[in-house]
Amino acid sequence: MSNAIDLNDRFAIVTGGAQGIGRAVVERFIASGARVAIFDRDTDLVVKTADDLGRARVMPVTVDVSRLADVERAVAEVHAEFGRIDILVNNAGVAGANHKTWDYPEEEWKKVMAINLDGPFFCCRAVAPHMIAQKYGRIVNVASIAGKEGNPNASAYSASKAGVIALTKSLGKELAEYDIAVNCVTPAAARTAIFDQMSQQHIDYMLSKIPRGRFVQVDEVAATIAFAASADCSFTTGAVFDLSGGRATY
Ligand code: NAD
Repeated sequence: MSNAIDLNDRFAIVTGGAQGIGRAVVERFIASGARVAIFDRDTDLVVKTADDLGRARVMPVTVDVSRLADVERAVAEVHAEFGRIDILVNNAGVAGANHKTWDYPEEEWKKVMAINLDGPFFCCRAVAPHMIAQKYGRIVNVASIAGKEGNPNASAYSASKAGVIALTKSLGKELAEYDIAVNCVTPAAARTAIFDQMSQQHIDYMLSKIPRGRFVQVDEVAATIAFAASADCSFTTGAVFDLSGGRATY
């Protein structure tokens, strides 16, 4: 018996996998034996990432996860190619602008909700019937410590991630009887391209709140996701894996 995470013969979808945390997850999955379809709205980047990592293991798919029809088309394409879908990682997300709630632009709020909360819902909705039919699946949603603690000047982001946590808990109960585990991770801040969407003041605030005293690394997030995506995660469902470096209060 191996002590390594075993994803041999597993077929995965990782949304937002063209860069950042998602790319680290894709790299970890293929190193563990999986084949992975990356869903990303950035066509150039998703194709480049698949070429970098090898088309034998990685399938690039241009998808906007905030559009149900687009998600359904992409999931059908992947199922036709792979024959099954064992793992879904809902990772695509945006930070949204930093404003006080009373100044938060309505369109920006709706955009954040559409990508961060509708996106995971649409992907779960499209993938769950395949997992139910095969009586196996692992869904891992990337929430955030902001969804548990709330960050000032980021109420749209925080509320969207709190929604992802609640989605995880509800769906975990619905799918438990089919050997489908649905869990989420709540990382602290990780230095990725998402920082370009935030004010420096907000980045400084997030770092100041991490008892570990540093940002979490994308590989550290990927390691936890790999466990939650594996058959070893055989009992836990509807749970939140904390990656806050000590910040979480529950
Ligand atoms: P990133 O900006 O580096 O990567 C996000 C990827 O998602 C990009 O490739 C982007 O093209 C893709 N994407 C965005 N909107 C999309 C859409 N509508 N459809 C398809 N793809 C879309 O971000 P990251 O830091 O790697 O973040 C990944 C996830 O982790 C996000 O859900 C984010 O909220 C969460 N998270 C990040 C941090 C952090 O500090 N980096 C902390 C906690 C949680």
